[in-house]
Amino acid sequence: MTEEQKVKIRRMRLDGNGYKHIASTLILPLSTVKSYCKRNGLVGVGPVVAMNNDVSVQLGLICRNCGKRLKHTAGKKRKVFCSDKCRKQYWNLHDGGKV
Ligand SMILES: [Zn+2]
Repeated sequence: MTEEQKVKIRRMRLDGNGYKHIASTLILPLSTVKSYCKRNGLVGVGPVVAMNNDVSVQLGLICRNCGKRLKHTAGKKRKVFCSDKCRKQYWNLHDGGKV
């Protein structure tokens, strides 16, 4: 599974899509999609997944873009994104590409 596919799975789950739909859209085995979701707290119905994700983002546990676990350094400002790449990707998506 590529990083891009992981991000897509997460996005689709947050939009309330089922495993089957995601698997067929991304052309991945259903079991791969399911186990990825299990490992990353993306199980349950869409709204619940979205809510859990929101809480994790607010607590600074995961990257707002890709959902990767964030490592925090004591004494430093809390991060929201795991990398510059994710920050840019997120704002591109959420600003309709405008800068
Ligand atoms: Zn990230």
